[in-house]
Amino acid sequence: ALLAATRASARRHEAVVQHSSDMLMLVDALGRTTWASASTLRRAGVELGRSVLGIVVPEDRPVAVDAFERVTARHGETTTFDVRVHTRDGRVRTVEVVANNLLADAAVRSIVLTVRDVTDEREAAHALQLQARQQAVLAGIGSRALTATRLDDLFDHACHAVNDVLGTDSTGLLELMPEGDLLVRAGTLKSSGIGTTRIVPDAALAQVLSVSRTVVVEDYLDHPESWRRLVEPFGVRSGVVLPVVVEGRVWGLMSCHDTVPRRFSQVELDFLQTACTVLAGAVHRGVVEGRVRHQATHDALTGLPNRTTLQAVLGRAVRSGGRPALLLLDLDDFKDVNDSLGHGAGDRVLAQLGERLRATVGDLGVVARLGGDEFAVCLEGPHAADRAVALATSLTEAVAEPFRLPGLDITLSVSTGIALAPEHGRDADRLLQHADLAMYRAKATRRGWAVFDAELDRERSERLSLLVDLRDALATDQLELHYQPLVGLADGRVAELEALVRWHHPERGLLLPGVFVPLAEQTDLIDDLTVQVAQRSAAQAAAWAAEGYDVRIACNVSPASLRDRRVVARLAQVLAGAQGRLELEITESALVDEEARDAVVRLVHAGATCAVDDFGTGYSALSYLRDLPVTRLKLDRSLSVDVDTDERAAALVSGVVQLAHDLRLLVVAEGVERPEVGDALAALGVDVAQGWLYGRAAPPSALDRTAWRRR
Ligand code: C2E
Ligand code: CA
Ligand code: CA
Repeated sequence: ALLAATRASARRHEAVVQHSSDMLMLVDALGRTTWASASTLRRAGVELGRSVLGIVVPEDRPVAVDAFERVTARHGETTTFDVRVHTRDGRVRTVEVVANNLLADAAVRSIVLTVRDVTDEREAAHALQLQARQQAVLAGIGSRALTATRLDDLFDHACHAVNDVLGTDSTGLLELMPEGDLLVRAGTLKSSGIGTTRIVPDAALAQVLSVSRTVVVEDYLDHPESWRRLVEPFGVRSGVVLPVVVEGRVWGLMSCHDTVPRRFSQVELDFLQTACTVLAGAVHRGVVEGRVRHQATHDALTGLPNRTTLQAVLGRAVRSGGRPALLLLDLDDFKDVNDSLGHGAGDRVLAQLGERLRATVGDLGVVARLGGDEFAVCLEGPHAADRAVALATSLTEAVAEPFRLPGLDITLSVSTGIALAPEHGRDADRLLQHADLAMYRAKATRRGWAVFDAELDRERSERLSLLVDLRDALATDQLELHYQPLVGLADGRVAELEALVRWHHPERGLLLPGVFVPLAEQTDLIDDLTVQVAQRSAAQAAAWAAEGYDVRIACNVSPASLRDRRVVARLAQVLAGAQGRLELEITESALVDEEARDAVVRLVHAGATCAVDDFGTGYSALSYLRDLPVTRLKLDRSLSVDVDTDERAAALVSGVVQLAHDLRLLVVAEGVERPEVGDALAALGVDVAQGWLYGRAAPPSALDRTAWRRR
């Protein structure tokens, strides 16, 4: 029974052993098979009496031999190792072998081998490992994409990392150039001529570029001639070419090649795809940064460097001990172009101007647009002073050429201020400031250009201190109004007086408006001045009315004030309380501005009448007169000063009078000093006259009121 039981147990063991999914065998120290289970004999190409090493892949045999030796050397030793074996059906599988010599059969010295097919397991593990490495590589590229200051460093890193992790022979990044060829931006092959080699894509590659699809080639020899020609010089057999797509357009390609035919798994392709996406992001960021940088340093309209850039260029030139000259250019009366032809036309002029300046300066220096119609040239090199003047002359000539606009040509002039380093300043700010002063001098003298001198600087600081004082004056009632009568030429009566502002400066004495009004107009002080004058005039008119006079007061309103809605609102408020006793004088040139015209309409609504001041000095924009609610034209003194002796002057005044009357406007002549002029004007039909002949501007207490209209 015991024997039977033992036999049964042995049979069971036998069955288990023979049908186990693990392969079991006994081998001797040389690896010869002395016994193998049935399934082992069936599945593996093992033959009894022959060495198992025969089915092991040759490269892996040393591992097995080594293990067998170790295990046979000591009883009870166990070892585990992986080898690749050829199966009966000709495949290669990876097996895990557990070898031990636990059998107490010292004579045979058999090794027990338990063999398990672990191919799938190992491949899966390997794939995971590979993926982990790929992730690490992507993370590396990603972080570099955020930190690299040069795209080429990033590209170089990416190519090497990708090539390493895929174990390919070469990887490169090629940028698609505007001409349609490809420039090698980075690559693992030094011989590929990075940055210099341009590749003309053949039909096949062009397709990758145009439809932006990844192409995988397992063996180029299987492909059309054109592909082979393309890759042969690089000695490659297989590869992947992926588009790098930035903002929806193919920016370039990544190409990854091997010298032997090979497959690229989906995991590898996904990896490459992700790498390309990361790089595309970096390229995009670079493009955007480049754009932002360009925007920050250049002017959008002309494409010229902007003020910041000019300051940097100038600063660098000064610091390096060069003797640069700074030319500051400002168009004369450019505002009129904008106002009368529109900003579109203005922009065209500026763009053409930028082009001309650039062409004229060439590589002598840097041309920049500082803003508006203000441009600058930084002229570097020795002898900058005389060259600066020579250049200013050429620039003046270049600007004098007509500017072509659709439908008309216009002619403009420019004023140039010149400052020289280091005499006129040792830093960019100071040079700019001084060139600016010289430019204003050039405008004032109408000489085209002016070089800075210290006198200008003195004038400037004087102007600045005057501005400080003016702020004070407005706050402390130092301003005073003088009134000049306007006389009806038909009856000699005074129905109106013009308020002319005066300033009693604590140190300088009485200042005329010509000294401080233009200054105030450069700042917001003009707004308070305008409103104060209107308020006082309203109060004065009310006081005279209370005394029984029926006279109105005309106030001058700066064009600058008309462009500010808040000032217009404040004026309207004053007018509302002035019971129609105020007239506003607005210069002819101000009316070119649409906002100013709107303001006029609004102020007339609020109760003012409106006169066009200095008529005949600016643009005689007669069409505006027809549409605006103005009631008088004030002829500038220059028009009437010699009407009594100059026939043509008389004809002109007569023409204006007729036109004004047709438009139902009264005509006022200003600056009448001689009786002959007064008579001539009366004969020509002028309605009202103003001038020293009839009375100078004076404070209310000094005015002769005998001819004033009474109620
Ligand atoms: P405007 O409006 O053309 O004023 C007339 C100027 O001619 C005044 O100079 C006046 O004194 C002067 N004038 C009067 N009669 C004669 C004459 O017979 N011969 C000559 N040669 N000149 C004469 P003023 O007061 O120096 O004012 C100069 C300019 O300052 C004014 O020119 C006006 O544009 C501006 N202005 C004066 N007051 C104000 C004001 O309150 N606000 C603003 N925004 N500007 C003002
Ligand atoms: Ca006036
Ligand atoms: Ca005037």
